[in-house]
Amino acid sequence: MEYFEYSPPSNEPLSSHKLIEDLQIIANKLNVTKITQSIYTQHGQYNCSTYIRRFGTWNNALEKAKLTISNFVDYSDEQLFENLLNIWQKLGKQPTRRDVNRKSISTISSSPYHRRFGTWTNTLKEFISYVNDKEVFFARNSLEFQSNSAIKTNRDPSLRIRYQVLKRDNFSCSICGASPAKNPAINLQIDHIKAWSKGGQTELINLQTLCSSCNLGKSNLD
Ligand SMILES: [Zn+2]
Repeated sequence: MEYFEYSPPSNEPLSSHKLIEDLQIIANKLNVTKITQSIYTQHGQYNCSTYIRRFGTWNNALEKAKLTISNFVDYSDEQLFENLLNIWQKLGKQPTRRDVNRKSISTISSSPYHRRFGTWTNTLKEFISYVNDKEVFFARNSLEFQSNSAIKTNRDPSLRIRYQVLKRDNFSCSICGASPAKNPAINLQIDHIKAWSKGGQTELINLQTLCSSCNLGKSNLD
């Protein structure tokens, strides 16, 4: 007798049931009642981000699978990446794991990053792939482009746009070249070249990196 296994076409949406089932399978296999994202990443067949998108948080997914919920604060990828970019902007260079643990510049410690991504290197890789996600990035840009005449873009640039602007400007001031990497007192800001209040859009071409003193000087001239 032959057995045929049903393999769903790749475009078929993954059922919540399948996701929950995989959590339970791993809990049974490892004989544990608690599964962190890092453990799931090693043993599971789906992405942790799929669970978070589907159930809101990792803990919600654990709850549905009747597994032990961790007491840890469950940060979303966006919150983790937002904090990472804030540190990057303050330092003017790629943060190390030690930087993330500096309470003066980081609001989230390295532990949630490790639970979510396993290692610091992996965290940086995931961050870069998130901010460089061209599909989303260009889709967003073209939306903003279409909206030029009618709908105004948000005043605050998205995480992706902020990173693109800072990276393009080498994490230094576009006017005087100051960089926090050389002088930690320097505070970088994202500036609208044509003021948002005067119709300037929040898009790469109209954004630049300025240090706080050049930004102040610029607004005095406006
Ligand atoms: Zn400057």
